[in-house]
Amino acid sequence: MRVTKKLIEDVVQELVGEEALVIVFYLRGKTKISEFIIAEELDLEIHKTRNILYRLLEHNIVSFMRKKDKIKGWYICYWDFNEHMIPYLSEKINSEQLAKLQERLDRENSGQFYLCRNACARMDFEKAVEFNFKCPECGEIMNLQDNARTIEFLKQRIKELSNQAKSS
Ligand SMILES: [Zn+2]
Repeated sequence: MRVTKKLIEDVVQELVGEEALVIVFYLRGKTKISEFIIAEELDLEIHKTRNILYRLLEHNIVSFMRKKDKIKGWYICYWDFNEHMIPYLSEKINSEQLAKLQERLDRENSGQFYLCRNACARMDFEKAVEFNFKCPECGEIMNLQDNARTIEFLKQRIKELSNQAKSS
């Protein structure tokens, strides 16, 4: 899998958030950059910089080396962007999304759903019986919902995601 800018953006945004992108792209193509340099170059506060770096570290998107500064006598962390982790993380995100969609599809296929006409509640048959087919929110009657379109939509999404996983 080729690591494109788009792929990095997708993975980082999904796992850590948009604010981490600037740091990731700053580190890309560099090695062992001190967190003070990162903060300074990107005009970020040092605690904010560290916070984002640690969140990236949780997913192994970055790694660090701690070294004692000989002059100042304190420890400084030097950071690297682990570009090789991106395809792996992307696959992981994809398969988790696929599993969730499949689970949802199984649920839709396995039963009937009842919907309040004001759309405040949606539930399966057993739950609807429990509530006497009356919406627990507004008291309106709940009707059997035709979920064919939901099923079609889920199948489509699953197909798209599987194709995406295959082509990359
Ligand atoms: Zn209702």
